[in-house]
Amino acid sequence: MNGKSFFIDLSRCTGCRGCQVACKQWKNKPVEPTVNTGSHQNPPDLSWQTLKVVRFTEVTVGGKFHWLFFPDQCRHCLDAPCKMVGDSEIQDAIVQDPETGAVVFTEKTKGLTADAVREACPYDIPRVDPATKVMYKCDMCNDRVHAGLLPSCVKTCPTGTMNFGDREDMLALAKNRLAALKPKYPQAELVDASTVRAIFLCPQPPSAYYKYVQYGDAAPSVLSRKAFLAKVLRPLRAFG
Ligand code: SF4
Ligand code: SF4
Repeated sequence: MNGKSFFIDLSRCTGCRGCQVACKQWKNKPVEPTVNTGSHQNPPDLSWQTLKVVRFTEVTVGGKFHWLFFPDQCRHCLDAPCKMVGDSEIQDAIVQDPETGAVVFTEKTKGLTADAVREACPYDIPRVDPATKVMYKCDMCNDRVHAGLLPSCVKTCPTGTMNFGDREDMLALAKNRLAALKPKYPQAELVDASTVRAIFLCPQPPSAYYKYVQYGDAAPSVLSRKAFLAKVLRPLRAFG
């Protein structure tokens, strides 16, 4: 099953936040009251009401100032660690669409240990509604995709940053754009492309954008995490 993927080309992002607003509109999520924290980033983080947030970072790389934009969202991991942890408590509280590959949180997530699900995510994505205990994140606009439409954020993005389609096509597009950017941005890279369905192309080192952009060399691999869950965590929970 190859399914679908996003290709998110950060060399084109202007930080307009159209994707963030489009996500809220399609998901019928309310605005959040916020205060000025000295950044254009608003609200300051993901939440159960804000499933996509554009992160703003000011950095100096190689002696040059950069204002970086990172439209953060669920990566729809091929072997999703959130689902592995969720299944150890309630089978299929988190499901994976066999056709598109979308990782989708159901109402049954209200029975999960939210902190454990969030900690399992290498990208710090899942959030819980404190009132209902249901967990939320991007679901790839799976309803739109099944109706032949683009995810709301992709449909709205005016710059070509957000792309979506069959996984092979997105991987090919990503590799072409990486090759085109390399002469100007030698440090450009595709982030975790072989393990996720939201493939970011970062012209600058991923850690310059935000601390949870990349799974990271120091982190355990998805495979070893899976083995850890199967061999250690589930038996421990069975005892508890
Ligand atoms: S990015 Fe996090 S929430 Fe999304 S599928 Fe992967 S582990 Fe789950
Ligand atoms: S809509 Fe496109 S250009 Fe605007 S912030 Fe989102 S990804 Fe960037």
